[in-house]
Amino acid sequence: MSELLFDLPPIPAIPVKGSDKAYPIGRIFCVGRNYAAHAAEMGFEVDREAPFYFTKSPANAMLTAGSTPYPPGTENFHHEMELVIAIGKPVFRASPEEGMAAIHAYGCGLDMTRRDLQIASRNKQRPWDLGKDVENSAVFGPLTPAEEFGAVANQRIWLEVNGESRQDATLEELIWKVDEVVSDLSKFYHLRPGDVIMTGTPAGVGPVAAGDVITGGIDGLHPISLTLTDPE
Ligand code: MN
Repeated sequence: MSELLFDLPPIPAIPVKGSDKAYPIGRIFCVGRNYAAHAAEMGFEVDREAPFYFTKSPANAMLTAGSTPYPPGTENFHHEMELVIAIGKPVFRASPEEGMAAIHAYGCGLDMTRRDLQIASRNKQRPWDLGKDVENSAVFGPLTPAEEFGAVANQRIWLEVNGESRQDATLEELIWKVDEVVSDLSKFYHLRPGDVIMTGTPAGVGPVAAGDVITGGIDGLHPISLTLTDPE
């Protein structure tokens, strides 16, 4: 193989509870509108037709407890607190049962979003990338092995900004359950270890500002935090 012209910045690997080995991020898939109350606050009714997806570049991932400048090009940068699935084995055209068996671990994630740009592109029927694939916008907390976490049921999922409650729901409210998400996504991709799926956010999304400290958690998982610093 030829020598590389230059080195790329390393993509962070996510620590895994109880392991001295971290989980390298290969691809980042995100589910849209997967909680009815959030779909409603965005102006949509939910249906059970099929889930839909967007992606974030692994290069735009960062780990919890970091800080990042308020991003350029937006005046409405939003928090979205999410349950993250980490795939542990290859699956393609999986049944929900096979999809469930492919889940290696769960974690907390933040899907930070330039909401103004997302809505503008949505209204113009353009792609969401400028709104969603923001630098440092996919934030991951340490993973917990699936067998330790147990069933995804009515665990609380919450987010605070500067200690003030913004999002508070339970995983029971997920429209597409984790096994269904993996099964459906595997109709379109050969899912494999390294693939992480952000499963959507509950209601209560809203703007953040430079200086804000965002904290979130899900019962049974390592909590997550992000500090926003002044824009560059
Ligand atoms: Mn999201």
